[in-house]
Amino acid sequence: MKMLSVIVPCYNEEEALPYFYEEINKISKKMDYLNFEYIFVNDGSKDKTLEILKKYAKKDKRVRYVSFSRNFGKEAAIIAGLEYSKGDFVTLMDADLQDPPSLLEKMYKIITVDGYDCVATRRVTRKGEPPIRSFFARMFYKLINKMSKTEMVDGARDYRLMTKQVADAIISMKEYNRYSKGIFSFVGFKTKWLEYENVKRVAGETKWSFWKLFAYAIEGITAFSTVPLIFSALLGVILFFFSVVMIIFIVIRTLIFGDPVSGWPSLVCIILFLSGVQLFFMGVIGQYLSKTYLETKNRPIYIVKETEKHKDL
Ligand code: UDP
Ligand code: MG
Repeated sequence: MKMLSVIVPCYNEEEALPYFYEEINKISKKMDYLNFEYIFVNDGSKDKTLEILKKYAKKDKRVRYVSFSRNFGKEAAIIAGLEYSKGDFVTLMDADLQDPPSLLEKMYKIITVDGYDCVATRRVTRKGEPPIRSFFARMFYKLINKMSKTEMVDGARDYRLMTKQVADAIISMKEYNRYSKGIFSFVGFKTKWLEYENVKRVAGETKWSFWKLFAYAIEGITAFSTVPLIFSALLGVILFFFSVVMIIFIVIRTLIFGDPVSGWPSLVCIILFLSGVQLFFMGVIGQYLSKTYLETKNRPIYIVKETEKHKDL
């Protein structure tokens, strides 16, 4: 019998976990033609998440867990789950039931019957989300798709089912600054997209604030596009030619009309404008440099404190 690994990143999910566990158990009972393993990645939760996971692992052999030494972020939890999984098929889903496990059966059929390598999901509505956030999200996807060769799908979730082969390809991407949406797209493979309406979290709270999302967007752009760098060079060239034209204009004007001392206000404006542009692009370059800096440090993406094999279980 083939095995399906269900990877669930958990950060302070004590409230949602019992619902999730019940739901996934229902689905695995229904899909009895597959062996299941659940890999819960405890991403440094500060609540009782780990205790709950230990309890499950004790009574249920399918439950495995990986517990980090601190909070490393969902991206780290995803890669850890993938590395620990043993299944022939791997699925990633949130603990809050925003990724309906009931879709699994359909997804599995699409892979095994229709011959796809991966089934991904995207939500077509952003109901229950602040309008400002939806607006910025839309803008972000427009922008990044113009700037990056790797296609980013608007509303794409991390919820997906894939073959071992795809999971291995994702694991082979060893970068420290991980932007999963880009990574999934980068590895390619025949992917089918399923669409569904946004579901509200079953319990607990979202871990994403507006600024966290903003930083994540910048992360996505620097990880999968170098267009901002090209743009800065381009703007430099345009400004250079503009200044040449201006110099010629001023020299000729001075030769014809003499040289009254004027232009102080315009000079200040030009200096302010150009130093603004320069500082902005230095910031852009700094972004790339700082990412490179972190990559070259070769730090581990996550650090494990214990797993279900730990002795005091
Ligand atoms: N998560 C995590 N580490 C973090 C933040 C979130 O492992 O630092 C997990 C979280 O427990 C959940 C999933 O990632 O299972 C999605 O998080 P959340 O529901 O807060 O995000 P949203 O669905 O609102 O985008
Ligand atoms: Mg959620």
